[in-house]
Amino acid sequence: MLRVAFRRLSTTLVTGQRSMSQSSLAGKVAIVTASTAGIGLAIAHALGKKGAHVVVSSRRQAGVDKAVALLKSQDIQVTGTTCNVGNQGDRERLLQTTLDQCGGVDILVSNAAVNPFFGNLMDTTEEVWDKVMSINVKAAFLMTKLVVPHIAKRGGGNVVFVSSVAAYQPMQGLGAYSVSKTALVSLTRALAPELAQSNIRVNCVAPGIIKTHFSTPLWQNDDIMDHFKKQMCIKRVGKADEIGGVVAFLCTEEASYITGETIAATGGMGGRL
Ligand code: NAP
Repeated sequence: MLRVAFRRLSTTLVTGQRSMSQSSLAGKVAIVTASTAGIGLAIAHALGKKGAHVVVSSRRQAGVDKAVALLKSQDIQVTGTTCNVGNQGDRERLLQTTLDQCGGVDILVSNAAVNPFFGNLMDTTEEVWDKVMSINVKAAFLMTKLVVPHIAKRGGGNVVFVSSVAAYQPMQGLGAYSVSKTALVSLTRALAPELAQSNIRVNCVAPGIIKTHFSTPLWQNDDIMDHFKKQMCIKRVGKADEIGGVVAFLCTEEASYITGETIAATGGMGGRL
């Protein structure tokens, strides 16, 4: 009787040990772009809590300093530097800082995006299109191209893009932005088979409406929120942490058979093309 109970206990302990190591990111280094506020900061926090050394960045030094101090106060290993993802020199400096200070890189989370125009798609200027596609899609790819050889050198790792529910349901007034987010779903699928050869998984997260500075015009407007709540199963705005956890999971061994996938974290708003 006692022996059976002991056997059960030791099985539980072994299973527990295995799942703990599979969900751990100890020893890993993660670059997260646009990570001094909102979803990017929550992703850095979630990766850091799993043991990764996180490299945070954004355009403004003050934001970087604040994010580094916050993460350090939560016992997270963190390095910070400025980086405007639209600038090649900045992207190279972000990578070099990571290599110099952390000795390598295992994870890239490409989170930066802009939306400089709200209005009819037919009123969108060439300048707006260039800006949106350049930051949201081209810079995401160029950052990946820069970092991937270094992830490969470590024997493999993860790339995660941050898309949006707008990738699946173009949002009124956010036409070019929605198209750019659909492009990231495709970029994920296009890169996955190529990078699998280097043992790198490529995935994407499509958040719904998450309470951050970026989405203020949506969640502060009752009429807009009533419209969106009709499409949600979970009838509330999401929290940045609810995206951070999904990204962190995708980077662990628990997700070792997931690649080329976009996970919709939208409270049930439509997340399929
Ligand atoms: P946010 O709270 O406004 O934070 C934006 C962050 O990006 C800040 O740290 C900002 O810092 C940085 N940033 C802006 N432009 C940058 C650039 N060119 N290069 C580097 N960093 C830059 O935004 P968020 O809501 O967390 O959005 C993050 C991602 O989630 C975006 O890809 C967005 O499309 C996506 N998303 C958001 C929602 C939502 O409802 N919030 C929904 C779906 C998808 P600096 O100003 O210092 O650069």
